[in-house]
Amino acid sequence: METTLVLIKPGGVARNLIGEITRRIELRGLEVVGLKLMQAPRSTVEEHYAEHVGKPFYQGVCDYLTSGPVVAMAVRGTNAVKAVRAMMGATNPIEAAPGTVRGDLALSIEDNLTHSSSDAEAAERELKLWFPEGLPR
Ligand code: ADP
Ligand code: MG
Repeated sequence: METTLVLIKPGGVARNLIGEITRRIELRGLEVVGLKLMQAPRSTVEEHYAEHVGKPFYQGVCDYLTSGPVVAMAVRGTNAVKAVRAMMGATNPIEAAPGTVRGDLALSIEDNLTHSSSDAEAAERELKLWFPEGLPR
């Protein structure tokens, strides 16, 4: 069993895609074990994207993630990290396969609807950051 972090970014919340994205996760057989709608503090977002400090899009992506409410979701299941990454599709929606969230519902890299943890270590770090109160075992 693995647990991974999914964020529905402000554009996804604004487009009323919380249900559609969550539906796909649940239909896959994965379990939502943590869920909240929140205005993310800038400090949380900056720490979340720490690996991208210094890249040209870093400020922009932090601005975007704090531009409106996000949904933070902890998703659990067998191989959840890889399964969810694959379901979300390539970072650039233009390269994301049809059938993926980004390939079906997004067009631009600046507004690619979701975040999901890239590997188990990232998932552990990110879940602590977004769910400091902890998650059910
Ligand atoms: P992913 O979200 O697929 O793990 P990255 O970790 O590489 O992608 O990037 C984090 C986020 O930063 C992306 O989801 C996207 O919103 C934004 N981003 C990445 N690369 C670019 C880029 N070249 N131009 C604009 N925004 C970008
Ligand atoms: Mg990433």
